[in-house]
Amino acid sequence: MAGKKGFILCVCQGTCPSFSKMDIFGVLSDLRREKLVDYVCLHPQLCVGDGEEFLKTLLSGGETEKLYIAACDPQMQSKMYRDAFEAVGFDKTHHLALDIRNRTTEEAGAAIKELIADNP
Ligand code: SF4
Repeated sequence: MAGKKGFILCVCQGTCPSFSKMDIFGVLSDLRREKLVDYVCLHPQLCVGDGEEFLKTLLSGGETEKLYIAACDPQMQSKMYRDAFEAVGFDKTHHLALDIRNRTTEEAGAAIKELIADNP
């Protein structure tokens, strides 16, 4: 059986102006409604210690095959999540990263759906 597809939205604590044009819960609800992934979640700050713990805990069971993360720059994401992925043996090529900053709700939703469609 194929592994699960998960989606995480990370929003710089929700206070960064880069995320002010977006209805964070609207983006998540839209994805849930369309059932494009098996689960969605929100994390305020994946790039600090408890964010790393979150990723390790989420992925340690090995059930997630693909992890889509909409947050900041994809290269920054790769560097910041690398230790967590390595610690639990999650294949970093199964992390699909999207820069979601400075988008409206509609723009964010469309970009996320495109990422998922292009990387099924
Ligand atoms: S991972 Fe990126 S989007 Fe998330 S809190 Fe850190 S800098 Fe912000």
